[in-house]
Amino acid sequence: MVSRVIPAQPFDLVIFGGTGDLARRKILPALFRRYCAGQMDRDARIIGAARGDMDDAAYRDFARAAIDEFDDDAVCAAEHLETFLSQLSYVTLDARGDDGWAALKDRLDGSERIRAFYFSVGPALFGDLATRIEAHGLATPEARIVVEKPFGRDLASARALNAELAKHFKETQIYRIDHYLGKETVQNLMAIRFGNTLFEPLWNSQYVDHIQITVAESGGVGTRGGYYDKSGAMRDMMQNHIMQLLCLTTMEPPAKYDPHAVRDEKLKVIRALSPVEPGDVVRGQYEGTDRLPGYRNEVENCDTLTESFVAIKARICNWRWAGTPFYLRTGKRLRARASEIAIVFKDAPHSIFGAAAGRHRNILTIRLQPNEGIEMGVTIKEPGPGGMRLVDVPLDMTFSEALGPEAADIPDAYERLIMDVIRGDQTLFMRGDEVEAAWEWTDPIIDAWEASGAAPLRYATGSSGPDDALALMHRDGRSWREIRP
Ligand code: NAP
Repeated sequence: MVSRVIPAQPFDLVIFGGTGDLARRKILPALFRRYCAGQMDRDARIIGAARGDMDDAAYRDFARAAIDEFDDDAVCAAEHLETFLSQLSYVTLDARGDDGWAALKDRLDGSERIRAFYFSVGPALFGDLATRIEAHGLATPEARIVVEKPFGRDLASARALNAELAKHFKETQIYRIDHYLGKETVQNLMAIRFGNTLFEPLWNSQYVDHIQITVAESGGVGTRGGYYDKSGAMRDMMQNHIMQLLCLTTMEPPAKYDPHAVRDEKLKVIRALSPVEPGDVVRGQYEGTDRLPGYRNEVENCDTLTESFVAIKARICNWRWAGTPFYLRTGKRLRARASEIAIVFKDAPHSIFGAAAGRHRNILTIRLQPNEGIEMGVTIKEPGPGGMRLVDVPLDMTFSEALGPEAADIPDAYERLIMDVIRGDQTLFMRGDEVEAAWEWTDPIIDAWEASGAAPLRYATGSSGPDDALALMHRDGRSWREIRP
């Protein structure tokens, strides 16, 4: 099967924070891979911008080292690397002052092409950048800005940030990135649901027993301790990534696959979430081992109440999902790095095979990492002469097997999303009202924790989280799926 790569139009992409960790690990390698795939125009220009003193040659060296280190696919030959790097340049510039902006304007002037500004800097600088882009006359009517997470730390700050950006850019120019939405399997979730007649009739509380979403990491906070401790699992993962996965899994079919229709439906889901009961939330902090520090030691704050794990039982109050529980969990230092959405269907209404056949359920699993893919668990007869014994087997829809080896080379989420910015497609980016609605749901949970002053529960490194998280499902007669790589 031949993959179809549609070249993007020529563009200028300014990466504010072009020397930072995100640019190094994700943005520059992603651009290089799109270049190799023939999707990045040979006239496109990428301009790194930060305060550090650097010339174009030094920035190209920085990008070369980043690609060497983080483009492990090695899909592109060395000769392509040099031509790609020739399209990069660098401007020394301060988001908080006026130094360097005239040089950036000179670099961009005279070009009619699409202009994108990637805000790969701390969120405190988003407003400064938006203001100066406009003040220095860099914002063309077609210009777009890409805003990294975190988008606020509560409803009030998200509203203030939306208002600040709205002074300078229209909503159609603002791309709030959530890289989970750029994952191939997440988009496939929509294709599975709305491209087939098979699943959608069953996709409701009548046939679905419950849905569980797990985003588990095996690593701790590592060098990000300072940042993470001000945020925690609720703000860092639940309010954005898990909420977005929940929306795509449960939304009504949009009338068409376009940014307004899809985001309207996602927003309706968030607004239909009921407030979470105190007994339906569990939060935890990982303990250390002989070799690894515990959370408190790792963030160097022995009194911290920030959670490295959270599990929630959520409910969506609408016709489709009334009565169906949604179990959501995320955490660090868990048994394995594994993220999945599992749609657990109800038991067959009557077993003609009798009690001895045991309990069997269909489970549709969308694996986000590792090994992106979709698996449908079906019940069949165990082969052999031993009577009617039933066994559950997976129908594995691994892309490479179905679509050929080319499909195994799944683009990184950033590749897809950056190209969407250039194409002007906002479908996989969060709209301002969605972000605010998500904070509206999470704020009361965080406020209640802060008001109580209670410490998160401890859990062992390499476990599935605190015992209370297991109890959250056991008391409903259900259990979490095993966290396995
Ligand atoms: P970082 O490593 O600290 O890099 C920050 C960048 O911003 C550097 O290039 C820095 O260079 C530049 N910068 C700082 N102050 C500036 C100023 N006043 N004017 C112009 N440039 C300035 O941060 P990061 O990890 O790349 O994160 C960037 C953004 O992405 C943050 O919002 C973060 O939350 C988000 N994010 C990061 C990751 C990740 O994996 N790293 C993942 C998701 C989201 P100079 O100091 O030389 O100016």
